[in-house]
Amino acid sequence: MSVRVNLEFFKREIEQHKAKLIAVSKTHSEEKIMEAYSLGHKEFGENKVQELVSKAEKLPKDIQWHMIGHLQRNKVKYIAPFVQLIHAVDSLKLLAEINKEALKNERVIDVLLQIHIAEEESKFGLDEQEALDLVSSSEFKQMQNVRIKGLMGMATFTNDTAQVRKEFKGLKKIFDQLKSEVPLAHQADYKELSMGMSGDYQIALEEGSTMVRIGSAIFGER
Ligand SMILES: *Cc1c(COP(=O)(O)O)cnc(C)c1O
Repeated sequence: MSVRVNLEFFKREIEQHKAKLIAVSKTHSEEKIMEAYSLGHKEFGENKVQELVSKAEKLPKDIQWHMIGHLQRNKVKYIAPFVQLIHAVDSLKLLAEINKEALKNERVIDVLLQIHIAEEESKFGLDEQEALDLVSSSEFKQMQNVRIKGLMGMATFTNDTAQVRKEFKGLKKIFDQLKSEVPLAHQADYKELSMGMSGDYQIALEEGSTMVRIGSAIFGER
């Protein structure tokens, strides 16, 4: 399995849809990341804070690190100095913490709200009403150091492609509906829809994804 061949395949596929590829490098070695980096790829995703920080310390500084996993509030401080985009914000409290740490670091941190679209109970995320309440809350309006760039979601892990498509369609609909509800100051930046992984990226792209998060199909099984 060649990282080069896989990466080039996905870049072509994804660019045809004007979307962006986040190469999910969790559990994979720094050597494998460097293999992709040396081909010009700069955007990588990790789902654990400790692993993300440790890789970021060792690898080139122009890598853009995406935190794609569930994030605990007490760990925000470790990634706040450098993280490119936090994909899985699912509470106002977490957002407030990100805002606080961003302020300390004198920067604005970009985030996506995670929406729960899958049937599985275990997956994190907000429902449509919760997301609406969050973006229209007065607390959020006062946060100067976070920017909501869009939404993220994970479909049910199933071979039923109709089910997956239905979930992605639902997420796109919420994405469109929320656009007019986010504060005016955020509307120009609200344009990203992070959906699609190795098993379902094609459906996600067809349903309007702007960012796919692909791990095993590039780097191999974990
Ligand atoms: C691991 C992970 C991915 C990538 O999954 P693959 O099936 O390996 O492509 C995407 N998104 C999130 C949130 C993940 O944790």
